[in-house]
Amino acid sequence: MPSSITSTTTAEPLSPAEVAALRSDFPALAQQVNGHPLVYLDSGATSQKPRSVLDAERDYYENRNSAVHRGAHTLAALATEDFEEARESIAAFVGASAEEIVWTSNATEGINLIAYAISNASLGRGGAAAERFRIGAGDEILVTELEHHANLIPWQELAARTGATLRFIPVDDDGSLRLDELDDLIGERTRVVAFTHVSNVLGTVSPVELLVARARAVGALVVLDACQSAPHLPLDVRALDVDFAVFSGHKMLAPTGIGVLYGRRDLLDALPPFLTGGSMITTVTMEKAEYLTAPLRFEAGTQRVSQAIALAAAVRYLDAIGMDRVAAHETLLGRRLTDGLAAIDGVRILGPVAGVERVGLASIDVPGIHSHDLGQFLDSRGIAVRVGHHCAQPLHRRLGVTSSTRASTYLYSTPDDVDAFLAGVADGIAFFGGPR
Ligand code: PLP
Repeated sequence: MPSSITSTTTAEPLSPAEVAALRSDFPALAQQVNGHPLVYLDSGATSQKPRSVLDAERDYYENRNSAVHRGAHTLAALATEDFEEARESIAAFVGASAEEIVWTSNATEGINLIAYAISNASLGRGGAAAERFRIGAGDEILVTELEHHANLIPWQELAARTGATLRFIPVDDDGSLRLDELDDLIGERTRVVAFTHVSNVLGTVSPVELLVARARAVGALVVLDACQSAPHLPLDVRALDVDFAVFSGHKMLAPTGIGVLYGRRDLLDALPPFLTGGSMITTVTMEKAEYLTAPLRFEAGTQRVSQAIALAAAVRYLDAIGMDRVAAHETLLGRRLTDGLAAIDGVRILGPVAGVERVGLASIDVPGIHSHDLGQFLDSRGIAVRVGHHCAQPLHRRLGVTSSTRASTYLYSTPDDVDAFLAGVADGIAFFGGPR
């Protein structure tokens, strides 16, 4: 059983000494919660932050705080330089160029940006260049049944605004994507294929290459939700050949309030804007406005400078370790997690375990025990996990549950963290009356 989970990573996992050393960079991990050392297994929701990231944000506010891309003074120039350097760092981190990186507040905003820009194009905004994005009645948008609400509701809304039809690739009883249905689901009418790279509920890695190839064959746009992959796996948007990708900084060591939208340059330059206002224009009259090229045409208003600078510090931190080593570390933890859970009577792991690529994340259902009760039991021992539907109600419904308990690791997680969770789950089941 232990080695049935496949992995594409061949890098050396982090040694216990390396993990111990890097944990000391994270002040939040040193605290006691409810009289126990914190066991933080909720990084899938948001990660803890290393001191270098916190320092980068503080340093910006103490020394260079200023609005970017306006102002002729020295601080404004320094802030603008740091802000644009941050864009370059993030571009390099995902294999893109700086003009292809749009700052957003999070992944949710990134997906809404694409969806609203497409509906603006569908209203005829953006002129001839934007015609390629026009969708309407008879056209189809394809998602999967795995999606986080952030990569589902914006497409439902886009379909409602344009008259297009939303379709989805279903999952089977164990949560595997029904790829055998692709022939029926992808065709000449498919205009957008939007899917998650890694499921935030199951921890499984989607077959990106296959889905991109099928989308390309019919000329559909590909939107990748990389929220659960960018923090945990090496991500190369060009190698994956996606048109757009989104992720959130707060899940990858950075503060809240900063996210990234990657878009292929020719597409971004042709796409009409979503938010409009200051800083995204060339000329404005009382009647109309001309817009800047990408990425600035998508960055209306005063920008999130400190957060972008802090995200660049987060990426430096991850790069210094190496994303392939982060992935190798988490693959091992993920195996420990699923092997341990499989051995506990009364636990159902959601999603396929054998023969699939997974990250260090697992959600469980314990029949007879509500996830909130189990979560509180674990919290009484200082163990932080996520409970509920994790913003994926349709997937939970399909798997026959209303909620689940999710443990998710990161580079600072240890085998002891996983073991504390496993012991907590086993003891929790006994506490609530034993397996059902
Ligand atoms: N997509 C996935 C797969 C996620 O896990 C999340 C957050 O949990 C999101 C999208 C939305 O991220 P945010 O709330 O940071 O916009």
